[in-house]
Amino acid sequence: MKQFDYPSWALDTLLVHSSKLSRTSNNSGRPTVQPIYTSTTYLHANADALDQAFSGNLPSGEPAYVYGRQGNPNAQTLEEILAQAEGGVGAVVFSSGMAAIYAALLATGLTPGMKILAAQDLYGTTITLLRSIFIPTGVEVVLRDLCGPDAAGIIRTEQPDVIFVETISNPLVKVIDLDAISSAAQEVGAVSIVDSTFTTPYLLRPIGYGFDLVVHSGTKYFGGHGDTTAGAVISARNTLADQLRAYATMLGAMPGPFDSYLIARGLKTLTLRMERHCTNALQVAHFLQKHEAVERVHYPGLVSHPQHELARRLLRQGHYGGLLAFELKEQTREAAYRFMDKLQLCLPATTLGDAYSEVSYPPVSSHRNLTANERQQLGITDGCIRFSVGIEDVEDIMRDLDQALTN
Ligand SMILES: *Cc1c(COP(=O)(O)O)cnc(C)c1O
Repeated sequence: MKQFDYPSWALDTLLVHSSKLSRTSNNSGRPTVQPIYTSTTYLHANADALDQAFSGNLPSGEPAYVYGRQGNPNAQTLEEILAQAEGGVGAVVFSSGMAAIYAALLATGLTPGMKILAAQDLYGTTITLLRSIFIPTGVEVVLRDLCGPDAAGIIRTEQPDVIFVETISNPLVKVIDLDAISSAAQEVGAVSIVDSTFTTPYLLRPIGYGFDLVVHSGTKYFGGHGDTTAGAVISARNTLADQLRAYATMLGAMPGPFDSYLIARGLKTLTLRMERHCTNALQVAHFLQKHEAVERVHYPGLVSHPQHELARRLLRQGHYGGLLAFELKEQTREAAYRFMDKLQLCLPATTLGDAYSEVSYPPVSSHRNLTANERQQLGITDGCIRFSVGIEDVEDIMRDLDQALTN
């Protein structure tokens, strides 16, 4: 690399080029944490090497970087971690969960006349995306109850090209039978996509069940600290991984180096946090079940949950996730607002999976765009509260819930 002749530069030139002056050399100590590479572009030894770098890999097999939209070292590190964590052949990271979901759907090669079969309880914005982006292109979108016992039968009847499900539904935490769905998907030749945001690879690894693509909102448990928006798609097949990479570069929806760093940092404590989320949630579920102001609790860890046995079979032994929903005895919006406003520790926040406990009221947040009737059909009552149980001391969480539930 060229040496800089900075003392002779005019101020204008100096200001433009000064950031190149401070460099760590191999002798000044290696950092134990990957530095955050903010560079948009990368220099190579000569024009020939640049030509080689444009292909993405060097003859040695090492990654080569040219331009930020095609990848940066922090995003690539995150991709390698996630591909291994999910047991995939590759991963591509995105600037949000929604960008990841969009790219995953594009990667399946949908064309007019093809059919997406999706679970009717999907994350609200995913349903909006299917309806507002794919339907106008001539893709048929069919929403059905894929959390019920007849999911495989529905798949055989519908003969879709793509199947989209979530491991655990929002907000009623219904569990999907991954085994049945993936074998039926293979039977009809459909590409199967599963949103595993609620479970993370700590609880479940869908590729092991035969799923083709696993998507995540990294904004939730991966980051875990409520300070980063990101997404990821992990692929079980090389052809899909290549398609994803191509779309990521074209759409330009990649996460910045700093966001990639924060997610990779969050992942370091994922297993510890998930363990605590799960044990806290089970205790909170039992507590709420006995509370006189609570009508019903939805949590796969409770024996009363209709899919408790399925959850036991699919999820890490004795662990059922950090999310639950419960219904107030007084099934009104006023009672729900009163409860939320009285909370002192748990935050009324429209996200989940953070270190702190968060409550949300689906009729005004995730299921806002549905009519009261549509919500009723999904089983979401006016007294329904979603609770993302945090990693605080569980006694403090329960005390806060108790005082907010008690008039
Ligand atoms: C939050 C969420 C998304 C969307 O992710 P963003 O990072 O907000 O774009 C998708 N699916 C599920 C299950 C989610 O919880």
